[in-house]
Amino acid sequence: MAKADYYETLGVSKNASDDDIKKAYRKLAVMYHPDKNPGDKPAEEKFRQATEAYEVLKDEKKRAQYDKFGHAAFEGPQGGGYGGYGGGFGGAGFDLSDALRAFMNDFGAESIFGDLFGFGSNSRGRRGSGSSYGGVGKGNDLQVRLGLTLEEISAGVKKTIKVKRLDRCSDCGGSGSKSGRRSTCSKCGGSGRVRHVSNSFFGQMIQESACPLCKGDGQVVSDPCHACSGSGLRQTETTVTVDIPAGVSEGNYITVPEKGDAGRGGRPSGDLIVIIQEKQHDVFTRHGLDLICDLKITFSEAALGCSKIIETLENKVNLKIPNGTQSGKVFKLKSKGLPALHNRGRGDLLVRVTVYTPEKLGRQEKELLEKLAELGL
Ligand SMILES: [Zn+2]
Ligand SMILES: [Zn+2]
Repeated sequence: MAKADYYETLGVSKNASDDDIKKAYRKLAVMYHPDKNPGDKPAEEKFRQATEAYEVLKDEKKRAQYDKFGHAAFEGPQGGGYGGYGGGFGGAGFDLSDALRAFMNDFGAESIFGDLFGFGSNSRGRRGSGSSYGGVGKGNDLQVRLGLTLEEISAGVKKTIKVKRLDRCSDCGGSGSKSGRRSTCSKCGGSGRVRHVSNSFFGQMIQESACPLCKGDGQVVSDPCHACSGSGLRQTETTVTVDIPAGVSEGNYITVPEKGDAGRGGRPSGDLIVIIQEKQHDVFTRHGLDLICDLKITFSEAALGCSKIIETLENKVNLKIPNGTQSGKVFKLKSKGLPALHNRGRGDLLVRVTVYTPEKLGRQEKELLEKLAELGL
């Protein structure tokens, strides 16, 4: 299958500036991000393609290669490892998880949350502090999905979730060494990076990657701790409490700083990203901020009018059905829907009336209905 042109994928011209490329990508990434389009395969693929394009075009060297050779620049036997995806940009393919990781590296969960998905946040400080998100050696970010009922979404809720994460090994204090001693890695001389030189038809390429011996630490442990096999990290299960504000919706996420995997060698932990999922409700269907429910009434109630108790997400209200109500009529209960984030108003509750036709009739009922029929009703 022919691959789409990277510039076309992002909707920019061949001489677009770095800034134009970034803006165009960001727009697409936000629109098609899987967390905003759960289960939507075409959106997922658009997100993946846009990210692949951006990963090439944002990089001056890769962009130049691409301009010269097109997709061939990243294919073929030399393709593996180009671009730092650990094995295969082109050959093995740039898959969705590569795309998600790249997006995180480029924009960071906090910026998604703060700017892109419209959540207020305390993220400025951390971003401004110069810590490069997903920087070298930082622990992995973890994602968990959290199912919420509409009642919880309506009121806001505090949730305690169990998280399996890598934590610092308590036996060795995270050093990975029994004695606490570490020595400079002989393979990389302590830099944590190794260089590979490869020749391809478009010239010599020098690639850098994490040192395989010390895994980028620059140091090795000579007497590994038994409990963690020298990694300094151990799988643990912890609980994290998250405050969910009222008014979230499917795909929104909340970043809990430093509750992801601990970093190797005492480096900072990654973040925990809690992705909201909405549980289906027995009574209500959500449409934006509005809720919809069905109400069955009898023919006589519809004809004569009646008053019905409607249970909303939070309390009960009285709904007056006027006489002469037709089946299918929708009554609006103002501001009884879901709240918007940050107290920006509420949606409505829409009650759709269905006039119920009885399936079994007693003798008396049948007689009365026959009388009604004689009267033309
Ligand atoms: Zn240990
Ligand atoms: Zn090394």
